[in-house]
Amino acid sequence: MSFTLRAAAFSAAALALTACGEPAAQTGAGEVNVFTARHYASDDAVYAAFTEQTGIAVNVIEAPGDLLIERVRTDGERSQADVVITVDAGRLWRAEQAGLFQAAPELQDALADVPENLRHPEGDWFGFAARVRGIAYAADRVDPADIQDFTALADEAWRGRICVRSSNNVYNQSLLAGLIEAEGAEAAESWAAGIVANMARPPQGGDTDQIRAIATGQCDVAIVNHYYLARLERSQDPADMEAAEAVDLVIADLAGRGAHMNISGAGLAAGAPNRDNAVALLEFLLSDDAQRAFAELTNEYPVIEGVTYDNAVLDGWGAVEADPLNVNALGENAGEAQRIFDRVGWP
Ligand code: FE
Repeated sequence: MSFTLRAAAFSAAALALTACGEPAAQTGAGEVNVFTARHYASDDAVYAAFTEQTGIAVNVIEAPGDLLIERVRTDGERSQADVVITVDAGRLWRAEQAGLFQAAPELQDALADVPENLRHPEGDWFGFAARVRGIAYAADRVDPADIQDFTALADEAWRGRICVRSSNNVYNQSLLAGLIEAEGAEAAESWAAGIVANMARPPQGGDTDQIRAIATGQCDVAIVNHYYLARLERSQDPADMEAAEAVDLVIADLAGRGAHMNISGAGLAAGAPNRDNAVALLEFLLSDDAQRAFAELTNEYPVIEGVTYDNAVLDGWGAVEADPLNVNALGENAGEAQRIFDRVGWP
């Protein structure tokens, strides 16, 4: 079946070659096809700025993370994807394993400015924005000094007080994957068992729901990505503002290694029909303008050092001391993490 599809795609490409004379003309020189799991105003602004500067039209195809990977993988050589963008190193790792990327030697200079631990060791993908998974807490009943490290949350003191989403979510898989890397699988398993014992309720909803549950008193602490709270903090919606007022964030250490850092990442799609335009866009994601847009519009941390931006919430949380672990390890350990979640009964 897959052989037939490949053969058909190959002859279509050969036909196009014959008809147009040169490969660059196959899909038109003036566009780039971005397959993305993100749906943020920051990204729209970045694409618009890119088009304005280069004249290259950006075609955006959106799909949720795992569906996006599946779609590009299934399309195989017929895929029109030039750039693939998704969030969380665990997903980037899966995308890479599914053969979605190719290395782009043209990007070598630009990538030298991205911290080495936030990009794929062979250059198949790179982080263009960073996020930390932290501990949100009820400002009126939790002392942030007690939650400076994720390991503390497994203590009996937190019995019945923790909200966290389901283990089938990649953010939790990556967090546990990071702990496996830091402390080994056995310690990671007893930590996960401790969290299950301390849950205030069975996992439900996304990270924002955990924050709201703190505000309504269902739990005292929650494990969340930082930008969900930043979004509420900067919202003009009265309900969001009320929740944000009651909750603050500790950018906690992961077993003494520094913050659990993760990324939004991108890579050059294998077989990208508009390769040059793709490379130009990937480079643009690392430009000052783009980095500032991610910080100001999506509350993510720039990956390029020295980029200035206006975001009082991020400033208020202070500098992030991050775990130097290469985020690729989060994907490598994800399978082990999932087995641990299953064993300890983290739904
Ligand atoms: Fe998210």
